[in-house]
Amino acid sequence: MKYDNYVLFVSASMADQTVLSTLLARSDNAVAAVMSTASDAQHFFEAVYGEEPFNVIVIDDRQVWASWQSVAAACSKHRPNALVILLVSSEHSAAQCERLLSGDIAAVYPRNSAGLLALARLVATLSAQQRSFSLRQDAANADVDLDEVAREERERLVHAVSHDLQDPLQLARRYAAILNEDYDGVLGDSGAKVLGHLQFNLNRTQEMLDELLDYSRLQSARPEIVPVDLNELFAEVVSLYQLTLDEIGGTITQQHDLPTLLVDRRQFQRVFQNLIGNAIKFRSERPLQITVRAQKVRNEWRIGVKDNGIGIAEEDVKRIFGMFERAGSAEEHPGTGMGLAICKRIVANHGGKIWVRSSPGSGSVFIFSIPQADGAAGQLSG
Ligand code: ADP
Repeated sequence: MKYDNYVLFVSASMADQTVLSTLLARSDNAVAAVMSTASDAQHFFEAVYGEEPFNVIVIDDRQVWASWQSVAAACSKHRPNALVILLVSSEHSAAQCERLLSGDIAAVYPRNSAGLLALARLVATLSAQQRSFSLRQDAANADVDLDEVAREERERLVHAVSHDLQDPLQLARRYAAILNEDYDGVLGDSGAKVLGHLQFNLNRTQEMLDELLDYSRLQSARPEIVPVDLNELFAEVVSLYQLTLDEIGGTITQQHDLPTLLVDRRQFQRVFQNLIGNAIKFRSERPLQITVRAQKVRNEWRIGVKDNGIGIAEEDVKRIFGMFERAGSAEEHPGTGMGLAICKRIVANHGGKIWVRSSPGSGSVFIFSIPQADGAAGQLSG
């Protein structure tokens, strides 16, 4: 039999297993779901490596054989298309649940009957959406990966929005400029103030749209991979900021020799530019100190850019890599919140990851990893 939903429940609790499977199998559900359980490491890995097409994985946070975080990370790695849901003690407040959401965890529910019921309902709505996708897939008469379809549609949408809004926005900016230039005396003080706000917001929208278009281009651009000496690249970026650093009395120290890696030069110039620009922008009262480090960890290089700036609150450390996401204190500084999303996209284009370790008040270290075999850059250049 073919089901709409394949749920894997990673839990040792027989009681919860029974309740959830009963709720999922309820006859008033419009869709059919089948649930498998994994109560220990062996069953879990057999399930994630196995054939069953799980689209939902529910993790009880009380695993005895591993932390729920590593179970969630293994799910993201081996079942990237599945929706991963965490069940936590019902003592957790809504805010505590919210804080557990991450790239690995899509939803958090309390481990009580209300939570399990809400979870079963979510599974039912999920499949309704997926059915509408499959109808479209039938119409296209093609055997396409559903996630791939959704991703491509999202990318097309981002591109269409950022591209097609350029003309009307530029027209609006032009009209605002005409008002400013030719109707200066007519508007009066309050009219001029309103026009000022209008122009400010139109310019900001333009800035955001440009960054969005840029981001969307990065999604489709193939990196131009060449051997790049990161020492040279870093020095080049530092020279762009030297004047500002001299003005604010900031210093940049390179703690290790940086490697030569096979990367897209222009794209990594942007990564360094964004990270150093942010370290300058979000500096604290202390004289700014930026340090860059490099370390080889197994088959990847990790580059870290550390500052002694204002730092980032724990609840923001993941969010800030999203599009247009800024942390609380960012309002006083210029920016659109796209810089780190762009860095993330560039690093992902090279098969790597970017993350931050930070403590508010003492500074942040942004780390990105680039997988690279020993001597790969040398082989290509030589
Ligand atoms: P923007 O700089 O345009 O706001 P980014 O995507 O580059 O956008 O950064 C997102 C947010 O992350 C910033 O608004 C800021 O809140 C936070 N942030 C980034 N870098 C740092 C840093 N070095 N120190 C403190 N906060 C930072």
